[in-house]
Amino acid sequence: MSNAREPSHSMRDRPRGKPSIRSRLMLLALLAVAPLLADRVRLLETSRSERLTETRAEMLDLARRARDAQVASVESTRGILKVLAEAYASLGAERADCRAFLTRFVDGLPRVAGLSIVGSDDRIGCSTRPQAIGLDLSDRDYVARARASGGLVLGDYLVERTYGTSAVLVAYPAPASGGAAPPVLLTPVELHWLAHVGVGVQDRPGAAAYLIDGSGRLLAGVEGNRRIGDLAAADRPLVRAVLSEPEGTVSQAGFDGARRIYGFARLPGIDATLVVGVDERAVLERISHETEIAYLHLAFFVVVTMMAAWLIGEHLVVEPIRALARTATRIGQGDLTARPEVERWASEFTPLATALTDMACRLSERERELRSTNAHLEALASIDALSGLANRRCFDARLAAAWTAAAARGQSLGLLVIDVDHFKLFNDRYGHVRGDGCLRQIGRVLSAAAAGPSDVAARWGGEEFVLLLPSADTAAARDVAERLRLAVIALRMKNEGAPLGFLTVSVGVAARKPGSGSTPDELIEAADAALYAAKNRGRNMVATDERHLFAIGA
Ligand code: GH3
Ligand code: MG
Ligand code: MG
Repeated sequence: MSNAREPSHSMRDRPRGKPSIRSRLMLLALLAVAPLLADRVRLLETSRSERLTETRAEMLDLARRARDAQVASVESTRGILKVLAEAYASLGAERADCRAFLTRFVDGLPRVAGLSIVGSDDRIGCSTRPQAIGLDLSDRDYVARARASGGLVLGDYLVERTYGTSAVLVAYPAPASGGAAPPVLLTPVELHWLAHVGVGVQDRPGAAAYLIDGSGRLLAGVEGNRRIGDLAAADRPLVRAVLSEPEGTVSQAGFDGARRIYGFARLPGIDATLVVGVDERAVLERISHETEIAYLHLAFFVVVTMMAAWLIGEHLVVEPIRALARTATRIGQGDLTARPEVERWASEFTPLATALTDMACRLSERERELRSTNAHLEALASIDALSGLANRRCFDARLAAAWTAAAARGQSLGLLVIDVDHFKLFNDRYGHVRGDGCLRQIGRVLSAAAAGPSDVAARWGGEEFVLLLPSADTAAARDVAERLRLAVIALRMKNEGAPLGFLTVSVGVAARKPGSGSTPDELIEAADAALYAAKNRGRNMVATDERHLFAIGA
């Protein structure tokens, strides 16, 4: 067990190229949120194109509202001019005082800023503004166009200096009298919407508004803070696009070259179109900025999801596995008290933890059994099966230990070597089985003689026994030997082949103080020599290695 290989409980030791559980969990989390992400991206892209569509619709709506406001003002002007034209036609000779007539007329109409009448010679014959009288308008096509159409046509764009506000001249022909060209009435129509660059767009960067007539001439316009007007622009893509339909939207470069998203609407009755636009880049930038923020949110969401997957993987899977691996390692290294701590884990780990606990329990049970078996075997290995006494192997170990202890205490150690007399004759006469029984009985006597807690009685081999008496000197050992000899005689076992006719033993006694050159082997040899002497002197006797002889015979 101690040789157990160092376990690879670290997650870092996993095979190369195999993704970790955490990576797989993160991938799973990514797969789970992927449809959500795809949907969000699709929504963002949709909202981007929707915003562009919205901006186009907004521009178109602005153009329409400006047109409607302008139409109302043109219509009221048309009505006024119609009444005025008829009144003027009926003036006859009083036309000489036409200025007074016009002034009277205009005074009653607060919304009409001024009135002029162009005579058949294309000059302003009469006007509410004296400085305009005599002005030659033969180079202005709108006078001829008014006469030709018989209705209202747009003329020059007038700047504020003249009328205090942005305005465009409108021309309306009076009924013809005689063969001469009919007079044409001129009055300015205010362009409030133009002054404010169209309601709603004035705050937008690079906003623009134009009034373009049917021939492609820019009558008036504003681009940012710049005013423009009276520009032949029929060849411009923007103007071509604007004139191709009654109303709509278009993304084109303006007169200043900046690309804009334009909405346009044609003014009915007069051949002109209103155009309102906002800077396309500014619009796109705003949308892009919003989209960027949305993508940042999305990225943040993905990062948080990944981190959550990582942490969940760490706490719910990796940490329990590590803890289980640690426990398995400790068990593998022999710590059978190790148990997995399971409080916070997912239930899926419980069977594994239970199996580990069961394994540790069974292993410790096995170990207990093994220990007891070992102890039993050890005991068996140290006991002589016949006599039940310690065997020679065990005796040798006990003698070595007792020798060391006696050396430490400075005491002497006594040893008896006992040999059954004429035992061969016993066996020969009574057989080996009875001989064995006899040896068992002598063993019991020896066991009783080993009265001290540290005394060791052992079978030395054959019919020879030993008795170790720690702390006994020669005299004390000799006394024990003598008692033993007598105790064997007291068994009264017949040995009719022997001279005495009963069973006796001879005992060799020796005692030594460890140290000063003496060894356990030397003690044994001394006791053995004493036994030899006892045998030589006739048996059934105790002899010491000091050649002291004691009791003989029974
Ligand atoms: P001595 O007095 O000189 O010791 O004579 P002895 O006959 O005892 O000596 P010897 O060494 O000649 O004989 C020993 C006998 O002990 C021989 C053997 O038959 C007997 N013996 C030895 N071990 C056992 C045993 O385990 N069981 C039995 N029944 N007899 C044994
Ligand atoms: Mg013998
Ligand atoms: Mg013998």
